[in-house]
Amino acid sequence: MKISIIGTGYVGLVSGVCLAAKGHDVICVDSDKEIVEKISQGETTIFEPYLEEYLKAVVDEGRFKASSDICNAVKNTEVSMIAVGTPFGKDGINLSYIQAAAAEIGRALGEKPQYHVVCVKSTVVPTTTDTFVREIIESESGKKAGEFGLVMNPEFLREGEAVTDFLHPGRIVIGAYDDRSFDTFKRVYEGYFDCPVLRVSPRTAELIKYSSNILLAMLISYSNEIAAIAESIGGIDVQEVLYGISLDKRIGPKLNGRVVSPEIIKYLKAGRGFGGSCFPKDIKAIMEFSKQFGYSPKLLEATISINEAQTTRIAERLERELESLDGKKLMILGLSFKPYTDDVRESPSLKLIRKLEDKNAIICCSDPAAVNNAKKEVPPHVGLVYVGDYRRIIKDMDAVLLMTPWDEYIKYLSEGDSPEGWNFLLYDCCGALNKNKIAMRGIKYIATGLS
Ligand code: NAD
Repeated sequence: MKISIIGTGYVGLVSGVCLAAKGHDVICVDSDKEIVEKISQGETTIFEPYLEEYLKAVVDEGRFKASSDICNAVKNTEVSMIAVGTPFGKDGINLSYIQAAAAEIGRALGEKPQYHVVCVKSTVVPTTTDTFVREIIESESGKKAGEFGLVMNPEFLREGEAVTDFLHPGRIVIGAYDDRSFDTFKRVYEGYFDCPVLRVSPRTAELIKYSSNILLAMLISYSNEIAAIAESIGGIDVQEVLYGISLDKRIGPKLNGRVVSPEIIKYLKAGRGFGGSCFPKDIKAIMEFSKQFGYSPKLLEATISINEAQTTRIAERLERELESLDGKKLMILGLSFKPYTDDVRESPSLKLIRKLEDKNAIICCSDPAAVNNAKKEVPPHVGLVYVGDYRRIIKDMDAVLLMTPWDEYIKYLSEGDSPEGWNFLLYDCCGALNKNKIAMRGIKYIATGLS
C-alpha cells in the first residue's frame, strides 16, 4: 500500500520505517526541513534501538522517502496518517498541529479524484476525529466524509522499545467512521500482524488510548503512594510490598507451577514518578476535557498530584540525609525520562534538577543518550555539569542519585569488587537496584520507599 505519514517525530518515524519494513511504500512528511534532510539520507533524528538499521535498509530498498510537501504526499498515496504532536496547552489539549495538518490534507484531497483514507494516529481527546478533523477536511476539500475515509488508529508503542512494539503490537485498534474506511485502512496491517484487531467508533478508539495510559500511570502513582506510606512508617521496603502484591494469583496466575508475571507488573513500581511526552500531558488533557462535560475526575487528579510531588519528596529527603545541600557535590545518573531513549520531555531528572537549583549544590549529571536534548532544556544559569565519564569522578561525590535505570548504571553500581573510596550516599530514586547486593558492597544506600 502507498502510505503517507504527516509528522515525523517519535511516532511518525517509527511507524513509517516499520510500515516500509513490512513492504509498504511510505512517504514521511515533516515541516522541519532538517528532519526531512537527515532521514532522507538514512540518518535518524531520535535515539531508538534498531531504528537506524531499519531506516537505512528501507531507504536503500527505495520503500521509504521523506518530504516536506504534504500535498504531493497525499496525492501519491492511498492513506495518510496524522502523527503530529498534541501537547497540553494552557487549558487543555493543543490541537493546532492537528488543525494545520488536517487543513493541508483537506486541500490536497480537494484536488484528488481518488478515494483516500485519513487516519489520526496522534493521541487526541474523544470526538476530535469525527468532529474537529472531519469538519476541517470537509471544509478544505469540499467533499463529505464518506467520499473520503476517516479512521482513528491510536498508537501504543513505548519509547525505548518502539520498533519492537510497532512490529509486534498487542492489539490494533481501528476507530472507523464507516465500513469503507475500515475495509481500506485495515490493509495497512493485514497479513502482517498477529494480534487482535478491534473495530470501534473513532471516539471509542480515542478513549481506549487515554484510558490505557491512565491505567499505567495510576499504577505508578499507586506504587509511589504506598512508598510514601512505607517511608513514613519506617522499617519497610516498598519493593517487597509491591512484589508481595504481584504474587496474588489474580494478578500473576500460576502456569506449570510457576507464577507468570504479566507485563503490567512493571508499572507496579515505586520510583521517581512518570514522565515522557505522553502520560503527564494525556492525563491532564482528558481531565480538562471531561470537566467540559461536567465530570471532574478525582482519580486522575490524585494520579497527577502524587506524581508531581515525587521529585519534591526526593529533593527534601536528600536534603535531610545530607543535612544541607550547600556546596554538596551531587551526581544525577540518567536524564532521559526512561532508559533507551533520548527523550527528556517531562523527565523527572530535569524536574529534580530544577528543584535542586537554588540549593547551592554542585550538580553533575550523565546520560548515555540524552545529554544533547537536556542541554536544550536546562538553562545555562543552572550551572549543570555534564560529565562524560562519571566513573572518573564518582568517588568525589557526596551523593549519587540513580534517576534513570539504564542497565549500564545498574551494572556499574551493583557489580564488581567493593569500590574503593566510595563514601557517597547512593540514592536509588527509581527502585532499580538490589539492596542486598548494594549492602554487600558497603555502600551507604537509600531508596524510594525504603528508609
Ligand atoms: P513529536 O513532537 O516527536 O513529533 C511531531 C512531529 O510533527 C515533529 O517532527 C513536527 O515537526 C511535525 N509536525 C508538526 N506539525 C506538522 C505539520 N503541519 N506538517 C508536518 N509535520 C508537522 O511527537 P511524537 O512524540 O511523535 O507524538 C506524536 C503523537 O503521537 C502525539 O499525539 C503523541 O501523544 C502520540 N503518541 C506518542 C507516543 C510516544 O511514545 N512518543 C506514543 C503513542 C502516541
